[in-house]
Amino acid sequence: MTCAAEVIVIGSGLAGIACARALARAGRGVMILDKGRGIGGRMATRRVSLASGEISFDHGAQYLPMRSAPFAELMRGAGAREWPDAAALVGVPGMSQLPRALATGLEIRQGVEITALSREDGRWVLSGPAGEFRARHVVLTIPAPQARRLLGPAHPLANALAKVEMHPCLTLMAAFPPDSPRPFAQRSDADQPLAWIAQNSSKPGRSACAVTWVAQAGPAYSAQHLERSPEEITALMLPLLCTAIGAMPEHALHVRAHRWRYALTARPLGVPYLGDMAAGLTLGGDWCLGARAEDAWQSGAAIAKAILEQTDAG
Ligand SMILES: Cc1cc2nc3c(=O)[nH]c(=O)nc-3n(C[C@H](O)[C@H](O)[C@H](O)COP(=O)(O)OP(=O)(O)OC[C@H]3O[C@@H](n4cnc5c(N)ncnc54)[C@H](O)[C@@H]3O)c2cc1C
Repeated sequence: MTCAAEVIVIGSGLAGIACARALARAGRGVMILDKGRGIGGRMATRRVSLASGEISFDHGAQYLPMRSAPFAELMRGAGAREWPDAAALVGVPGMSQLPRALATGLEIRQGVEITALSREDGRWVLSGPAGEFRARHVVLTIPAPQARRLLGPAHPLANALAKVEMHPCLTLMAAFPPDSPRPFAQRSDADQPLAWIAQNSSKPGRSACAVTWVAQAGPAYSAQHLERSPEEITALMLPLLCTAIGAMPEHALHVRAHRWRYALTARPLGVPYLGDMAAGLTLGGDWCLGARAEDAWQSGAAIAKAILEQTDAG
């Protein structure tokens, strides 16, 4: 199968959506390809069916700090509501609802992994198990280490990409019966193996049929145990979570671990995007500017602006 578009964006996270949305609004033909199952990348929500009803866990981005008024307005427009316990905004019924709402009307193909990029007759050819895609301009909004692997170590942008540092994050999702302890809504302690613990069910618009928790291990603990199996990670993290919240491991209704290999930017690039505009290749994502969802959005928006300026001038 071969498909073509003026611009192809790889990645349906916030950076890819910001870029594609601005290009589509300017009338450009743009398509997003993403290897994941759902729209949103690291702004992710996992739904689980229990006998008592459906529950969910925000196992990636937890909340949106209200750093800038325009971004907060944009997110409110996409349905975000305040989580008073963290004085921050969250998606309802889950964080992934925000990228989904912001991507309305865009052409997005999930489950499409791109494993190779090449040039042919002045166009990019993107290929992978799902087939071949051709575009005049390619935008990669995937984590910097993955972008470096895709382009190869000899690519002129590989050295700049290697300077970006991203930390892993082991995440545990656990649900307990509704009458279980709820000692806090969220707790942050960089000195603990579980650096962040959130009572997911305390966020607005979540199911009341279980008390749900999301625990994130700090970077050192995550790196130390990264290659363990999900079962081993669960066995390590569940007792730590239970000690922190005063619950019994055997009372858990559901437990699952998730491994984010490239979770949080530790050393960003320092500019909103990287690329070779003339060759029609641009790279961006949160890692350009910082570790937050808003950084991803700013990067994607800056790429779209640069592409529009370049093509308008040409
Ligand atoms: C555990 C955790 C907690 C976080 N907490 C917060 C928080 O509380 N607040 C906050 O603001 N931010 C938080 N963040 C950071 C926030 O999630 C990110 O900054 C933001 O979502 C990054 O968006 P992005 O578009 O740059 O990248 P991503 O969301 O990672 O999107 C990249 C996409 O590219 C796809 N992809 C990768 N390689 C390929 C390929 N070869 N082919 C096709 N598709 C590919 C992936 O499937 C993915 O969907 C957290 C992140 C994690 C992991």
